[in-house]
Amino acid sequence: MKTFVMKRIGEVGVLEKPIPDPGPNDAIVKTTAALICTSDTHTVAGAIGERKNITLGHEAVGRIYKLGKEVRGLREGGRVAVNAITPCYECENCLRGCTSQCTQMLGGWKFANVKDGNLAEYFHVNHAQANLAPIPDTVPDEKAVYCADMMSTGFMAAEHADIPIGGTVAIFAQGPVGLMATAGSKLLGAGLVIAVENVPRRKELATHFGADIVIDYTTEDPIRAILNLTGGQGVDSAIEAYGASATFESCIKATRPGGTISNVGYHGKGDYVQIPRLDWGVGMSDKTIRTGLCPGGAERMKRLMRLLERGRVDPTPMTTHRFKFDQVERAFRMMQTKEDGMTKPLILFD
Ligand SMILES: [Zn+2]
Ligand SMILES: [Zn+2]
Repeated sequence: MKTFVMKRIGEVGVLEKPIPDPGPNDAIVKTTAALICTSDTHTVAGAIGERKNITLGHEAVGRIYKLGKEVRGLREGGRVAVNAITPCYECENCLRGCTSQCTQMLGGWKFANVKDGNLAEYFHVNHAQANLAPIPDTVPDEKAVYCADMMSTGFMAAEHADIPIGGTVAIFAQGPVGLMATAGSKLLGAGLVIAVENVPRRKELATHFGADIVIDYTTEDPIRAILNLTGGQGVDSAIEAYGASATFESCIKATRPGGTISNVGYHGKGDYVQIPRLDWGVGMSDKTIRTGLCPGGAERMKRLMRLLERGRVDPTPMTTHRFKFDQVERAFRMMQTKEDGMTKPLILFD
């Protein structure tokens, strides 16, 4: 089978590999659609260290090709979605409810991290019964594939933000995760959704997905604008969806005392993320900082697909480009530079 791999830091390419075999609790999925993620480009740049010929990708859907003999409730040939995060649901961290931290910090993240990912014609899924979710007939692959990461992660950011019904929320950055955090905030009943973004196409999408106000930080100071919009108090909740110290600090500043800062951005650079001391009430402001990694598992995937089935949200306006799998390298290079206004490239297999 053909796979798209990270050969080493800074180098990618197509590599022929054997189709994997499932263990008793696992499954092999034949890929039908996948999305490339900005975090794949971080990985290739070296953000998680060296990897040799590891298959990239963690956002894919497909059909079950082969099931392990212990897997119940699924059938070969069925259309399935699998989350980017595939916990074991057996280890101590999983049993504590921190499934994304399976076995160790960030350990639920297995695809293209500790095992081959799914930018490949076939891919292996561990603990298949807990991680594979059937896709409803009315939900096309190109929608279902967003459950793997963008919807699960973006909605988690909104869930972690603890937005009171009718409350105020500011989302810093409107990349695909930020856009889904905006959509999630609206779904959760925020009364005022403020998005902070400067790229024109992303500003439009922010409005499309539910932002009431979009602040362009290149033309106005977002903190001052947020304070003005909230009677000088700051928002109930701020979501960091960029992954930089400056946006994290802005979230602390923009949040009212007692509010919640939800970090979902991938902080790929530097050794420290700083907290502005005075805006943090010298450590006594009742401000909560929450962090999280994309929640996985079949139960969450089923809930996300219910939203797609009922038309509560349609993530496909984020799909700016489409490619066949034999053009995956070109798609990846465009994702590295966000050339041509690329938000999410969809990769289609056969
Ligand atoms: Zn991703
Ligand atoms: Zn686990």
